[in-house]
Amino acid sequence: MAFITEAPKQVPVSHEADVCVIGGSCTGVFAAVRAARLGAKVVIVEAQNSFGGVATNGLVCVWHTLLDTDHKMQVISGLTEEVLNSFDEMDHSIGNEKNVSGDSHFFNPIELKCELDRLLTQEKVKIYLHTYYTGISCDGDKIDAVFVENKDGRGAIKAKFFIDATGDGDLCRDLGIERFENKKMQPPSYVFLMQGDEKKACEGINLQGSDVVTHLLNLHAEEFGVERDWGWATPIPGLDNLMMRANTHVFNVHCGKADDLTKAEIEGRRKMRVVRDLLRKYGDPAEKYSLVNDCSYIGVRDTYHYKTKMQADSMELLLGTSYDDCILRGTYNVDSHDSKEGISFMLLDGTYTVEDSYGNIRHGNWRAERGYPTDVPMPTFYQLPFRNLVGEKYTNFIAAGRMLNADASAFGALRVMVNLNQIGEASGVAAYLAIHRNKSVQELDPVEVARTLSKGGSANLG
Ligand SMILES: Cc1cc2nc3c(=O)[nH]c(=O)nc-3n(C[C@H](O)[C@H](O)[C@H](O)COP(=O)(O)OP(=O)(O)OC[C@H]3O[C@@H](n4cnc5c(N)ncnc54)[C@H](O)[C@@H]3O)c2cc1C
Repeated sequence: MAFITEAPKQVPVSHEADVCVIGGSCTGVFAAVRAARLGAKVVIVEAQNSFGGVATNGLVCVWHTLLDTDHKMQVISGLTEEVLNSFDEMDHSIGNEKNVSGDSHFFNPIELKCELDRLLTQEKVKIYLHTYYTGISCDGDKIDAVFVENKDGRGAIKAKFFIDATGDGDLCRDLGIERFENKKMQPPSYVFLMQGDEKKACEGINLQGSDVVTHLLNLHAEEFGVERDWGWATPIPGLDNLMMRANTHVFNVHCGKADDLTKAEIEGRRKMRVVRDLLRKYGDPAEKYSLVNDCSYIGVRDTYHYKTKMQADSMELLLGTSYDDCILRGTYNVDSHDSKEGISFMLLDGTYTVEDSYGNIRHGNWRAERGYPTDVPMPTFYQLPFRNLVGEKYTNFIAAGRMLNADASAFGALRVMVNLNQIGEASGVAAYLAIHRNKSVQELDPVEVARTLSKGGSANLG
């Protein structure tokens, strides 16, 4: 590779704060809000024109349950619950609708954008939209400033503590933190909104639980020049005859790499049109299938992961290991999308299912197959300890989001938004405590982090 030398230049300091959060999905926003509520001066930087990341600009408008698997005890609260409640207060039909099994919250992504604006403004967080993180300045193990670019040109933001909530871990990359990739990296999906319901298209056919478009795609993949695939779609509360569609994946791309990310966007849009054409030909003839809106960037599930003091372990999760520094409680299954084997779910109750790209579903019991007892009470939620977020080197830094240090299966469970929302909140609390106690992130009392977090409603230690 050829190189040129960039001339050194003076960069203006555009802002100074206690806590600087880079990346404004709910993970980043919740980190910012929790730190601000504890008294920190906070700045947040987001590349897009609005907050919410995959939940809004990626159009993925589903948060999983706040309850344990018995649906008896609430295990998730904090800002996730606060936002869902605010949807309820406005108009039940645009947020917080539950699906048939009562285990998910569907919301209108535009409403979420507005709620996140409101939360940040209310907590007096300094906001930079249309602003891209581009580099970092360190003094030994301490970060001094980040460089950002926006309509003002290049500027620096100085802070006492930094949170990387970029999803891919752009700050971790520039800090040279040891990273790894899952052997089976979960593929991205290009999400879009389309007018027209397909439910009546396969009336009378036993779909074995798979989605109508999955069934049609598998019958006609060759005709439309796409791979066999599986996916899902859901209506958006309050909007009639409009489906949010994550019906296809883009395979064999690494979205942490610029060329592949570009390729993925273009291939994702091609597949979006395939779904439209497939439904126009084989869908319900009474429906008018038309594209209405698409994500402002492809939904990336998985790229790089960065090492911390402790890797999240899928067996510890699924066996319900508890920790006194628990910062996250969750129930979402180990959910792995794989190009060859299809989609698989491992549940806390010991069972699993695998749906291949022909729509065949296989059931089993991972506990029995792996030699764990099956005649004991099953855990109804899992936990993640604070040390999973603590890095080895940088003293005023946490990475929060899907770059998390987890084995491939633990990542399959932890990657969902109700979980990352809690990791965001924990990062904001830890940032505040590190500043307030004048300690490095490594010196923080993890139990104090967990307790302070639960005072704000999250990861109740109950
Ligand atoms: C198609 C799809 C379907 C999914 N379905 C579900 C589901 O139903 N329910 C669920 O809970 N989870 C689901 N997930 C998983 C979940 O959405 C993601 O794992 C989660 O949103 C990742 O959150 P994050 O905060 O790490 O990253 P992101 O949501 O990607 O947020 C990163 C943010 O950082 C910003 N950013 C990135 N780089 C920079 C930079 N250099 N400078 C400034 N800003 C930057 C981005 O613009 C973005 O706003 C799905 C994921 C996909 C892709």
